[in-house]
Amino acid sequence: MPTSASAGTPSSSAAPGGVPVAVLGSANADLVVTVGRAPGAGETVSGHGFTTTVGGKGLNQAVAAARAGARVRMVATVGDDVHGRLLRDTLAREGVDTDALRVHPGLPTGTAHITVEDDGENRIVVVPGANAATGAHPDDLRALRDRPPRVLLLQLEIPVPAVVAAARAVAPSGTRVVLTPAPVPRGGLPGDLLGQVDLLVPNQHEACALAGTGDLAEAVRWLLRRVPEVVVTLGARGCLHATRDGGHTVVPAVPVTAVDTTGAGDVFAGVLAVALAEGSPVDGALRRATAAAALSVTRSGAAASAPRRDEIDRAVR
Ligand code: ATP
Repeated sequence: MPTSASAGTPSSSAAPGGVPVAVLGSANADLVVTVGRAPGAGETVSGHGFTTTVGGKGLNQAVAAARAGARVRMVATVGDDVHGRLLRDTLAREGVDTDALRVHPGLPTGTAHITVEDDGENRIVVVPGANAATGAHPDDLRALRDRPPRVLLLQLEIPVPAVVAAARAVAPSGTRVVLTPAPVPRGGLPGDLLGQVDLLVPNQHEACALAGTGDLAEAVRWLLRRVPEVVVTLGARGCLHATRDGGHTVVPAVPVTAVDTTGAGDVFAGVLAVALAEGSPVDGALRRATAAAALSVTRSGAAASAPRRDEIDRAVR
């Protein structure tokens, strides 16, 4: 449930044994092919490169939060396959608690099949696989209910009912629920989800899509009738923080030469969650998230580009 506390107030009612930050969401293997030009129907072409990396908004946010220095638990589902083992090993290496990473014996690990052409054009097929089972097992919610985090980070690459159930599961604990509403479901969000969210972190496109308007100010007003606090990320323009009581601040982005902006929003959300869980006032938390996201766009990759705590500390000094 939304709390009336300001974003700078750490939730003290989360039970002992809980972690500062938990992430319930997607974890994928990204299978990236580089090719001169993508094949047409029925055609075979020769590619010139292939890499396997980790991805999924949930995993990206968990890694970003762990690198920012928090103890982080990831609640997700993978298949009993090589990609599932890759994701588990990567999360463990990053220091993320994988106790609640469940293996589904009958489904493949989620994969994103990405073709990048020489001119930069890309085509992506996502197969959710085991991500579709996240939240379907009682252990997933038990991991949150029994050891509630101070901040629960959610996105929408797993079934929306699971996201609603997770937000409900932590409601009695005073956990701050932070939602990145991406991807925006075709039919919009169920009303009972936004009613469980304390802080919504959409990008501009998502904010406008949710509200059904092209006007950002109108979208923010629409969102604030449903959630108490919103941070809209605006790419190279920074972010806009608005609260239901009329507070309104723009935090400019840190000027950098961007190399790859993939995952900037996930780094922003992960670092914001850590700062809020540590009790940082919202303006300080936004400064850390903004600095971290700027660092991440100066290098390639999504989770791989997330900066570590000491880098963020230096950047905000
Ligand atoms: P993605 O989908 O790639 O994860 P997003 O659309 O969710 O990104 P953005 O609004 O593009 O999120 O970016 C998130 C934050 O990252 C911004 O609020 C800003 O602080 C930072 N950022 C993004 N692009 C740049 C840039 N070119 N220079 C500096 N900071 C940037």
